[in-house]
Amino acid sequence: MQPWLEVPLDSDFSIHNLPFGIFKTRDRTPRPGIAIGNHIVDLAVLAEHGLFRAPDERLWDEGALRVALSRPILNDFIALGKVITHAVRLRVQQWLTGEAGDPLLRANALVRQRDAEVLMPLRVPNYTDFYSSLHHATNVGAMFRDPKNALFPNWRHLPVAYHGRASSIVVSGTPIRRPRGQIKRDDAQPRLEPTRALDFELEVAFVVGKSTLLGQPIPAAKAEEHIFGLLLFNDWSARDIQKWEYQPLGPFLGKNFGSAISPWIVTLEALEPFRVEMPAQEPEPLPYLRVAGKCSFDINLEVDLVTPGGVAMTVCRSNFRHMYWSMSQQLAHHTINGCNVEVGDLCASGTLSGPTPESYGSMLELTWNGSRPLQLPDGSQRAFIEDGDAVVLRGWAVRDGLRVGFGEVRTTILPVADSA
Ligand code: CA
Repeated sequence: MQPWLEVPLDSDFSIHNLPFGIFKTRDRTPRPGIAIGNHIVDLAVLAEHGLFRAPDERLWDEGALRVALSRPILNDFIALGKVITHAVRLRVQQWLTGEAGDPLLRANALVRQRDAEVLMPLRVPNYTDFYSSLHHATNVGAMFRDPKNALFPNWRHLPVAYHGRASSIVVSGTPIRRPRGQIKRDDAQPRLEPTRALDFELEVAFVVGKSTLLGQPIPAAKAEEHIFGLLLFNDWSARDIQKWEYQPLGPFLGKNFGSAISPWIVTLEALEPFRVEMPAQEPEPLPYLRVAGKCSFDINLEVDLVTPGGVAMTVCRSNFRHMYWSMSQQLAHHTINGCNVEVGDLCASGTLSGPTPESYGSMLELTWNGSRPLQLPDGSQRAFIEDGDAVVLRGWAVRDGLRVGFGEVRTTILPVADSA
C-alpha cells in the first residue's frame, strides 16, 4: 500500500497509522487533521468535498460528521463512534493510495507540517493517572519504604490510581514553569520554595471514546469499545513537594502544575498489528478484572534530555508492554463502582519503567533519588531537570516493515515565576 505522496520510510506517520489531531495554519482555523509523512490531511476540506459520504445514509449522518470535522477539538468527532471514525480513516487511506483524483483537491487538502501548528487535540473533561508498572512501583517502594516489602498489599489485586488535574494538561511544545510549593527539607521547618527535584514521568495515556452513564460499569471484555486511541503523556512531577504533601491522600501540587501530551492520537485500530500478551498476573485478579487474549501492545518508548545548549542524550529506553495491568483492566476497575467516563477523558498508564536501569521512566529512578546523577555528553550532570532543559518522549511500534509512531511530546522548563 503506497500513497501517492512521498512518506519517508522511517516516518511515524505511515499510511498504516493515520493518527488524528488538531492543527491550524496562517489561513486555516483550528480543525481536525490526519498526519501522513511530513504532511497533514485537512479533514474539513475533504468533508466539504463529500469524501465522507455514507454508502447508505442509515450508516451515518454526513451533516453531523461535517460539523464535527469543522470543530477546533476532536471530542465531537470521537463521540460519533468507532464505526464513523474508522470509516473516515479508511476513506483517507483509500484517497491517499488511490490513482484517480482531483489535483486541485490534493493540493488544497494537504498541508505541510512545517507550515502548520499542532494544537491541543481534545477538551479533557477528566484525567486519571494509574500506577501500573510493577518495576516503577517496586523501585519507588524500595526507595521510600522497604526494599523487602516494596509493594503495598493492594498493588497486585487492583490497578492503583489517583484522580489527576485535567486543566493543566498541555500539548507538546508548550513550556512549563518550574513550580514552587511547600517543601520540608530534612529537619527544617517547611518553607515555600521552588522545587529542586523536578522530574518527568514516561507514560502512555488512552483517550476515552465512548461515554457511560453514572452507575454503569464497563466490563473488562468490552472496555476496548470505550478506548479511542493512545498518546504519549509526560506526568511532570516535583518530588520534594510530593514527598511532603502526599500522605494520606496522594499526589496534589507535586503533580498538578502541568502534564504534557503528544498532539496525534494513534487509534487502537492502527495498533492492532502490535498486540502482545500481558505479563503473567499473580495472584489471579478477581473475575471483574479478568481478560483474555493479547491485551498489551509492543510500543517502544524513549526519553531524551536536551540541555539549554542543545546537547541531547537518550536517558531511557522502555516499552509499553512492561505494564502489569492492561488498559481494559484499568477501565473496568475505574468504573466497577459506577463511576462514569466521558469522551475525551485521559487515563495515563503510570510511569512505564522496565526491568533494567536504562529502562527506568523517571529521573527519580534513573538517578535513584538524585544519589547517582546522570553524566551528560557536555560534561554536566543531572540529578533532576534544570531550567532551560527540554524533555522529549517518543514512541513507536515496528513489525514486519510496518511502522506506527506517536511522534513526540516535548517540554522545555522555564525558570520559576517571580514571587507572587
Ligand atoms: Ca504518574
